Amino acid sequence: MTVLIAGAGIGGLALGLTLHEIGVPFRIHERVRALRPLGVGINVQPDAVRELWAMGLRDALEAASVRTRDYGFHTRTGREIWTEPRGTWAGYAHPQYSIHRGRLQMILHDALIDRAGRDVLATGAPATGFDPDGTLHLGDRTATGDLVIGADGLHSAIRARMAPGEGAPVWSGRVLWRGTTQAPPFRTGASMVMAGNDDIRIVAYPITPPGAGGAATINWIAERTLGPMGGTREADWTRAVDPEDVAPHFEDWRFDWLDVPALIRGAAEVLEYPMVDRAPLARWTRGRATLLGDAAHPTYPVGSNGSAQAILDARVLGRCIRDHGPTPEALEAYEAIRRPRTTAIQRANRGRGPDAIMQMVEDRTGGDFDRMDELVPLRERAVHAERYKALAGTSIAALNAEPPILG
Ligand SMILES: Cc1cc2nc3c(=O)[nH]c(=O)nc-3n(C[C@H](O)[C@H](O)[C@H](O)COP(=O)(O)OP(=O)(O)OC[C@H]3O[C@@H](n4cnc5c(N)ncnc54)[C@H](O)[C@@H]3O)c2cc1C
Repeated sequence: MTVLIAGAGIGGLALGLTLHEIGVPFRIHERVRALRPLGVGINVQPDAVRELWAMGLRDALEAASVRTRDYGFHTRTGREIWTEPRGTWAGYAHPQYSIHRGRLQMILHDALIDRAGRDVLATGAPATGFDPDGTLHLGDRTATGDLVIGADGLHSAIRARMAPGEGAPVWSGRVLWRGTTQAPPFRTGASMVMAGNDDIRIVAYPITPPGAGGAATINWIAERTLGPMGGTREADWTRAVDPEDVAPHFEDWRFDWLDVPALIRGAAEVLEYPMVDRAPLARWTRGRATLLGDAAHPTYPVGSNGSAQAILDARVLGRCIRDHGPTPEALEAYEAIRRPRTTAIQRANRGRGPDAIMQMVEDRTGGDFDRMDELVPLRERAVHAERYKALAGTSIAALNAEPPILG
């Protein structure tokens, strides 16, 4: 009895840890020869943090991340429009973590090797396809198990077989430049901020506490709309560009609490990533094979959902395998729970989010932000924020009352 997993990203590793926990043998086949802590900052939402704590990773995460305290929207001149608390400050039983994606991946990796041994992970082993009977194709060889799980990310080879002809991810017309810079934290010291409008904006938040000199690692994402939605543009998480390609777009964005061009120019490396996703699939499962994480539901990297949803997929799939055995029924049960939820997130991320408030303020004030309180009263901003919270689904009280997915 073996579960074959393609991909040792956040989702594949979380599934490996979960299968180890329930005593189901598995093997992960990862494309790269050696896992390296790649990426920049991400946020892990309280529902996924509850699962990571249940997996025994609380201490490692606390040591490697920042508990995000609040999230604020600002004009392109740095004036505060609306700020709301996050994680435990908002009343959740678990925090929201801001953490380096690569560190999270290595925490999962190290825990997996520590608990299950090195043999569970084969590297330099790209998956090339599958058969619905539980066969995983690895170039000119195959491996056969009870289940095949495609956790091989945005450019999944398993999905390509599941949905032949789907083609490249769909570009939103927006480009994200991402980097990390050593700089003093701002506002509360654990604040996540967004400033700008629909065409140009910056997001920034610390992913480490400040060191002895007062500087923390600040993660930032600068975004510009460069084209219409629907084209294609190669989506590579590791494409580096010159900071001077980016900083001039933000040259006059010097707030009294954040110097945006200095933040961009101070980055050791700037990565360019087109904001892409794929349309939701009508099915994830074929016989003894299914998809998980970005392979199943690639969404725009906004709203802090990518890693959290991959972790939740892994936990729900683990529970279904525990309850139904490593069978097609387990995969169908998993898909029935997870596909509707993640499809809703994919669709919501293509629409307007709470950040629409920034363009609303820009439009109403015509850029004269001194008139914000008069033209977009605080009461109206509060109503706007509440509307999006209601759309997000589970209430804080309901989530706090839920036990972890595996009990
Ligand atoms: C190098 C890298 C950097 C990233 N940086 C960021 C970031 O800065 N910000 C952000 O929001 N998201 C980032 N992401 C995406 C983010 O990790 C995912 O959106 C999210 O965590 C969901 O996890 P996942 O396990 O589904 O996918 P991923 O974390 O993308 O993991 C997929 C894994 O599958 C492997 N793989 C790919 N193809 C094959 C194959 N054919 N056979 C076997 N293995 C394969 C990949 O090497 C990777 O280890 C990055 C992903 C990668 C791979």
